[in-house]
Amino acid sequence: MALRQIRVEGDEILRKKCREITKITKNIKILAKDMLDTMYDANGVGLAAPQVGILKRLVVIDVGEGPIVLINPKIDEVKGEQINPEGCLSIPGKVGNVKRPSYVKAQALNLDGEEIVVEGTELLAVALCHETDHLDGKLFIDIAEEISED
Ligand code: ZN
Repeated sequence: MALRQIRVEGDEILRKKCREITKITKNIKILAKDMLDTMYDANGVGLAAPQVGILKRLVVIDVGEGPIVLINPKIDEVKGEQINPEGCLSIPGKVGNVKRPSYVKAQALNLDGEEIVVEGTELLAVALCHETDHLDGKLFIDIAEEISED
C-alpha cells in the first residue's frame, strides 16, 4: 500500500485544469492504486488526481459499492436535483450544502482502456460531479451554500 500526500486548499495545483490521459501507462495504473489506498486511508468516497498533485484526468470513487476508476471522465447526462452537505479531503473541516443533479451518467475509460458508462444516483451522482469538477480546478466551496466548520 502506498499513500500519497493529499493537497489542501490554498495549494494552487487544486485550481488548475488537468490534462487528458492519452496512454494508460504502468505509472497511471500505480497512481490509480495509490489514489484508492489514499482515499480509503482518509475515509473518503472519492479522490481526484490533482488532490495528490498530479494534473491528469483520473478519479477514483467508492461509495460503498466497490472501487471505480475513471480515466478522462465526461458527464453526458444529468437529471433532477438534490441538495446534500458535502465535504472534501482537500478542504478538511468544512462542510456546505451543494445542489447537484439527482442522476448522472458519465463515460470514461477504465484501466484497460475500455470505454465504460457509469450511472449514479444519490451519493454516486454527487461523487461523479464533485470529482469531475476537481479536474477543472473547481471545488465544492465555489458552489456551496452556508459553508460551516465541521
Ligand atoms: Zn474533493
